[in-house]
Amino acid sequence: MTSALPLFSRPTPVEPAPRLAEALGLAADRLLIKRDDLIGLGGGGNKVRKLEITIAAALGSGADTVVTTGAPQSNHARLTAAAAARAGLRSVLVLEGEAPSRRLGNLLLDDLFGAELVFAGERGAAAVAVEEAATRNAHLIPFGGTSATSAVAYRWAGEELLEQVPDVGTVVVAVGSGGTMAGLVAALGAERVLGVATGAVADARAVVAGLLAEMRGPTEALRIDDSRIGRGYEHLTPEVRRAMSIAARTEGLVVDPTYTGRAMAGLIAAASAGDLPGGRVVFLHTGGLPGLFGHPDLQHDG
Ligand SMILES: *Cc1c(COP(=O)(O)O)cnc(C)c1O
Repeated sequence: MTSALPLFSRPTPVEPAPRLAEALGLAADRLLIKRDDLIGLGGGGNKVRKLEITIAAALGSGADTVVTTGAPQSNHARLTAAAAARAGLRSVLVLEGEAPSRRLGNLLLDDLFGAELVFAGERGAAAVAVEEAATRNAHLIPFGGTSATSAVAYRWAGEELLEQVPDVGTVVVAVGSGGTMAGLVAALGAERVLGVATGAVADARAVVAGLLAEMRGPTEALRIDDSRIGRGYEHLTPEVRRAMSIAARTEGLVVDPTYTGRAMAGLIAAASAGDLPGGRVVFLHTGGLPGLFGHPDLQHDG
């Protein structure tokens, strides 16, 4: 039995998106958006569901601090800081690279939540995080908050979605550390989940299959679109920029340049290729709005 510390009100809403559906060539009532971006804690997003499990484990271990890792604009690191604050724990965020000259986007929120920030420089965040944890009474939370244990949070989310949308045919979701997709596949089966790789890990398919093997879920026939990465995780592609505009201009819906923008580009490509067999299409909005305000490729002078 996996224990969890409740951190948000469920279920998250499912909303129609008829104008976006028509822009993609789908029937107006076929496309729905599951709004995990509207999770209230800390600016919201999918990482909160996994943190319900990882923060419960930290409290159970008797730790007074959580340590985690990520890119400088990590949504997971930001939400770890928020969840730690909620649970009365300290947080240490070990981030890749050098300290930037300005703390924008997620970094601004990390400060606000009282996190201690450590920039790993050339040594790599994973190694520095192990060291930082060893000097404290700390519980180490893995990259993206993902393990076979915490991915169960998205099995539960898949079950929540099935109650809201029993005729779901395809769920489209961004793949970072893989826990979100793995959990959804465990709940819905491989054929109903279309993952869109973001470049956060070198081999998204292997990572998701590995998690599913540990979860005793299906590891075959995973649907992963790995054509939306472009020059790499941290770069905005013209296709994603266009997907951001389409979502914003049809539904007033904001998707971020790193994760949900790529997932939206994957949805657009799948719709135009006729790759969305029967039933409703659900776009899982996993959050990421603060990252938009920290993304260098989107900053320009008037
Ligand atoms: C981390 C993240 C994802 C991917 O979730 P994983 O479980 O790491 O694959 C998707 N969208 C956003 C906004 C994220 O921050």
